[in-house]
Amino acid sequence: MAYTVPKLTDYSEESLVAAAGEVVKQLNDESKAVTDEASWDAYRVRWTGRKNGITTQLNETWLKPAPGASKPRVGALYADLRSQIQRAVDEAKDRYRNVAILGDHARAKGLYPLDISLPGVRRTIGAEHPVMKTWREIVSVFQKLGYSVAEGPVVETDYYNFEALNFPPNHPARDTQDTLFIAGQQSKPQRERLLLRTHTSPVQIRTMEKMRPPIRIVIPGTVHRNDPPDASHSPMFHQIEGLAVDTNITFGDLKGTLDHAMKALFGSSVKTHFRPSFFPFTEPSAELYVTCFICGGSGKRGTDPCRPCKQTGWIEVLGCGMVDPNVFEFVKDNGYDPKKVSGFAFGMGVDRLALLKYGVDDIQLFFQGDVRFLQQFS
Ligand SMILES: [Zn+2]
Repeated sequence: MAYTVPKLTDYSEESLVAAAGEVVKQLNDESKAVTDEASWDAYRVRWTGRKNGITTQLNETWLKPAPGASKPRVGALYADLRSQIQRAVDEAKDRYRNVAILGDHARAKGLYPLDISLPGVRRTIGAEHPVMKTWREIVSVFQKLGYSVAEGPVVETDYYNFEALNFPPNHPARDTQDTLFIAGQQSKPQRERLLLRTHTSPVQIRTMEKMRPPIRIVIPGTVHRNDPPDASHSPMFHQIEGLAVDTNITFGDLKGTLDHAMKALFGSSVKTHFRPSFFPFTEPSAELYVTCFICGGSGKRGTDPCRPCKQTGWIEVLGCGMVDPNVFEFVKDNGYDPKKVSGFAFGMGVDRLALLKYGVDDIQLFFQGDVRFLQQFS
C-alpha cells in the first residue's frame, strides 16, 4: 500500500516532528527505487506532481486545515518539506544519470560499475622542505624584531650585484669562475651586463634606492654561483641577509641583534663570538660563530669527536659588519649621507644551517627531490 499523507489531529510539536519525519523517511525510501528515467519520472510525479503529488497533499491535508494558532508552525514545516522533496527529486535524477554514465564507462573498460559506498582516494599531506622551514624560522626571528621582508630579482645587473656593493673591477668574485653570466652581453657596458646574482646583497641597494632611512629589512632569496655540485656546494643555494640603517647605529647594535637572533634560533644557551673578517661592502667586518649546537661546545659527542664543528666547539654561522660608507655613496641622494647615517648588514647561508640543524651531510640531498629523504622531516 503506497504511502499517503495522513490527516493531522494532534498539533503538538512532538507529533508534528514525528509526522514530518515519516514523510522524509518515505521520500528517501522511494528514491532508492529510481534507477532509470521511467522510475525517476514516476518518483517525480508522485512527490511533486501538481495534481495529487505528496507536496500538494501536504498543502491540502496539513497546511490548509491547520488551526490558526498552529498555522505558522505547520507552514514552516511544510516549506521545509517542500524544499527537501525538490532536492531529493533532483538528486535522484543526478544519481541515476551518473550511475548510467559510469556504468557505460566501466563496461567499456571491462570494469565493474562504480560502488559509491567504497572509501575515497586518500590524499597524502605534504611537509615543509627542511630548507624552507629553516628559511621561515630565520625570517620570523627578524620579523619579531621589527624587520620587514624585502625581495629582488634573481637575474641582476653587474651594477647591483658588484659595483654598488663596493666590489672593485678586478675583484675575484667577478671572475667568470664564480659568477654565472648571461650569454651574449659583451656589447653592453659592464655595469649593465646581466648575471645570476651571487648573493642577496643587491636587494640592499635596491631597497635603499626606494626607501629613505631608517630601514630594517631581512632579504631571503635564491642565489647562484659557478660551483660544481658536491657534498657541500651547489650551483643554486639560499641566503638570508639583513640590513639596518639609522642614525647612530653602532657595532654594539649589530652584536646585540645577532646575539639575540642566534639565541632565538639555536637555543638560549648558545654563546656568540665575533672574529675579524673582510667583505667589500662592510667595514669593519666579522664572522659570527656560535657554540656548536650539536655538541654544546665541548667538541665531543660522547667519546667521539664532533664533526660539524671539527672538534672546536664553535660553528661559523654568518658574515656581518658595518655598512661601508662607500656603499652609502651610491644611494646618498636618497638620504643615506654616510656622514649622517650608519648601519650594519649580515648574511647567512640557509642551506648550510639546515644541514647543520638536521644533521644532513650532503647538500645535494636537499635538491634531488627524493621523497624517501624528504619524508624524514614530515
Ligand atoms: Zn660540535
